[in-house]
Amino acid sequence: MAVPQRRTSKTRRDKRRTHFKLEVPGMVKCEQCAELKLAHHVCKSCGTYKSREIVKA
Ligand SMILES: [Zn+2]
Repeated sequence: MAVPQRRTSKTRRDKRRTHFKLEVPGMVKCEQCAELKLAHHVCKSCGTYKSREIVKA
């Protein structure tokens, strides 16, 4: 059923939206270059994963 916009208070509307983002942050610091990288992924800046070089930079 449609609810008039004014019936939903700003607080209630914003509370609902607390779940909206928070998607795929998963950022950790690279052990090699201390750059932020995605967890469980090869580091983009130095090309290592688990302290081993995978991709030649
Ligand atoms: Zn790195």
